[in-house]
Amino acid sequence: MRVARPGARVCTSAGAFREPRASGVRAAACVPAILPMVVLAVLAFCAAVLAPVSARAADVVAIAAAIEDAGAETLLVFTLSAPVEPRVFAIDRPERIVVDLPRVNFQIPAEEGARAGGLVASMRWGLFAPDRARVVIALAGPATVTDVTVSARDDGAHLLTLTLAAVRTDAFAARVATDADAFRMASLRPAIAPEPAPADARPTIVIDPGHGGIDPGAIAAGGVEEADIVLAFAIRLRERLAESGRFRVLMTRETDVFVPLTERVGFARRAQADLFVSIHADSISSAPQVSGLTVYTNSDEASDRESATLAARENSADALAGFETQEARDEVADILRDLAARETRGYSHVFATTLVDGMDGVARLNKNPHRQAGFVVLRAHDVPSVLVELGYLSSRSDIALLTSQEWKDRATAAMTASIDRFFAPRLGDRADAAAVSP
Ligand code: ZN
Repeated sequence: MRVARPGARVCTSAGAFREPRASGVRAAACVPAILPMVVLAVLAFCAAVLAPVSARAADVVAIAAAIEDAGAETLLVFTLSAPVEPRVFAIDRPERIVVDLPRVNFQIPAEEGARAGGLVASMRWGLFAPDRARVVIALAGPATVTDVTVSARDDGAHLLTLTLAAVRTDAFAARVATDADAFRMASLRPAIAPEPAPADARPTIVIDPGHGGIDPGAIAAGGVEEADIVLAFAIRLRERLAESGRFRVLMTRETDVFVPLTERVGFARRAQADLFVSIHADSISSAPQVSGLTVYTNSDEASDRESATLAARENSADALAGFETQEARDEVADILRDLAARETRGYSHVFATTLVDGMDGVARLNKNPHRQAGFVVLRAHDVPSVLVELGYLSSRSDIALLTSQEWKDRATAAMTASIDRFFAPRLGDRADAAAVSP
């Protein structure tokens, strides 16, 4: 038995909405009614005031996620500030349930998603596109969603309750097949950003803050999320680069939103970028001794095992968000592309060396500060690209630096100076050319 607010609609796992079934209070009983509406209202207000770019006043706010292991079934209950109309899909490799929602501002720490219970192995949530949120539930075994309800609580909160039940592997596969087309459509998304304004004479720098939205990146002990750290750093770097007026500076994301890896590359190419700098602060849990700033350039052969592991994990970001990457290949252009790629690789290496030199003494460098690995995000064949690990969230000493404003100021200043140095020949040429022009 499920309860739903009169007029609330509920969707089936194929994504079609239907009227909810009649009364019952099971969903409401899943979470103690201890979170008065005032909390939701305050959170919605704070989100709107403190983060005007990433949250809107009208956003639905999610403040709690509870798992209830009820034997044969597992209930998943989200406490929200307003009713939502979810769409639910089953996907495989690995077995997951994806719940698509309208834009929801998740005020639930990402680390809470690591909790397991019943049929749920782990969860992640966040914005999948600027106007859409997604919850990805990693399953402990094949299971399908047998019921979805949206119900109103007395204090004004709304509970989104999903009921999961274990099924046989063949039944799960059948559900995946049924959902496949609708899921593919749901995972298409509009371009991350408006087409960049036409390039001007200045070199174009694209700053790429890693992760975001449904993909928090690494999560440090204590709950600090990589996606937040690198966005703050990128915004500071953009300010510094823009101050000089010498560069056209663009970012692949400016808010806490998911951006697929291939789209980050596509954005840099469309912007005709002269340099692409992807900013990260990952964790290498198998090697907590690895610390310090590292600059990576692209290579099919990783320079060492840790770099290979890191690239593999970075490259899985899209799949973890439930986004299927389709790599288009244009065979005809392969030779030209290879030639361009070779030249680009040379520039990427020069910049990596310049950056490592520039950061020496400002940041604590990794013992091998320039490494290589096959990162998807570095694959633009015509844009010199580097991925900077500012430090590692698996290293306690690095966390202290990464969260310090003073360090951020120094490190972005040094990075800006390195970018200036890299473009000095080109900017110098232009200055000379301007001097002799009539
Ligand atoms: Zn990362």
